[in-house]
Amino acid sequence: MNEREKSAETENVPCEICLKEIPRSEAKIEEAADYVLYFCGLDCYKQWLEEDKAKKQ
Ligand SMILES: [Zn+2]
Repeated sequence: MNEREKSAETENVPCEICLKEIPRSEAKIEEAADYVLYFCGLDCYKQWLEEDKAKKQ
C-alpha cells in the first residue's frame, strides 16, 4: 500500500567524500543555498569541511 512512501524513507544517498551509499535517514546532511550534501559520518563531514576551507584560502 505505502510502498512508495517507504522506499522514499529508505532511499540511499551517496556520501560526498567516500561515495558510499547510505540511507538518507542516517546521513549527515549539509544544506546550502542551492545544494544538499550527504555524509556517511562525521569523519567524512570533517574532511569535507577541511577541503572546503582549503578551497577558500
Ligand atoms: Zn563517507
